[in-house]
Amino acid sequence: TYQNKESLYQLSEVAGEYFQDQLWKTEEGKNIALSYFQERGLREEVIQYFHLGYSPKNKNSFTQFVLSKGYKKEILEQTGLSIFKENSEQGIDRFRERIIFPIHSFSGRILGFGGRILQNHVKTAKYLNSPESEIYHKSKVLYGLFQAKSHITKEDNCYLVEGYMDLISLYQSGIKNVVASSGTSLTNDQIRLIKRLTNNITILYDGDSAGIKASFRGIDMILEQDMNVRVLLFPNGEDPDSFVQKNSSDEIENFFKYNIKDFIQFKTDVLLKEAQDDPIKKASLIRDIVSSIALIKNLIQKEIYVKECARLLDISEQVLFSELAQITQNKL
Ligand code: ATP
Ligand code: MN
Ligand code: MN
Ligand code: MN
Repeated sequence: TYQNKESLYQLSEVAGEYFQDQLWKTEEGKNIALSYFQERGLREEVIQYFHLGYSPKNKNSFTQFVLSKGYKKEILEQTGLSIFKENSEQGIDRFRERIIFPIHSFSGRILGFGGRILQNHVKTAKYLNSPESEIYHKSKVLYGLFQAKSHITKEDNCYLVEGYMDLISLYQSGIKNVVASSGTSLTNDQIRLIKRLTNNITILYDGDSAGIKASFRGIDMILEQDMNVRVLLFPNGEDPDSFVQKNSSDEIENFFKYNIKDFIQFKTDVLLKEAQDDPIKKASLIRDIVSSIALIKNLIQKEIYVKECARLLDISEQVLFSELAQITQNKL
């Protein structure tokens, strides 16, 4: 109901402030979390701009705090911020000893949180997110969209990254038209959110095999929504965050300037490297690329890409067009 949702929003807002207070105003927060952010190269104004916070070690300090302010157990449970064992009135905090990333709606209300552990070697999951709730549907949310939307419109392009830290580091280095799909693989709803602002997406996933695989999937989904897609592949083992933290702004600018590829160029490069000189692999690679081109709705664009593909792969356009016709035929 409307009223219930409002209570969830309200509690999330209170929680966001609580986590920020813990970060800036407690010894534990300053010693553990603020110093962690600083080790990762984040400046204070950026930590503040994204309303980052800290959830302390104590197992129920947040829950006690909001219960004492009169918030109801049911609401705490529904946001997932507290967990109550069966019939118990004694809840425990979902987020403990984690740095906290509030996740905002398009209009800036807090919907949920992501939390990261401070040490990499601990056994628990590195990132923990709020569970689905009446206000938080992770497949319909993009992290950072609230902060990025005006920049996306202005640049008429949206960078898409995997994680919270990627987005924040890019923002700090001056690249502000960025969103992250954090915690899910890219969904059609998320692409639609971007489409309200621009037709152009540049994928900036991690430079590893998982990132490349996710890029291939993302390319097809974006093409299916009649949008343009480019890809920037980071050096092996780097992600946007690690890259930006390691390089100067000139180096970053140059890397972006010379390495962003349209999707055909990107797929061709990756697949040709895999196929080497194997003609069977090369043939299947061509079908793979053509099947992406088949998703493009605009006929003029389609033709431009076929021509580019023919040039890159050194194959006649005619063969590609008949392959394209066959794939389109099979889909009908
Ligand atoms: P960091 O730089 O802080 O180690 P990252 O952003 O590079 O984090 P990745 O491991 O590359 O993290 O994962 C990318 C994103 O996927 C994360 O930002 C997070 O949203 C999500 N993610 C990663 N690991 C987990 C996990 N164990 N549980 C839930 N979500 C996760
Ligand atoms: Mn990764
Ligand atoms: Mn990463
Ligand atoms: Mn990272």
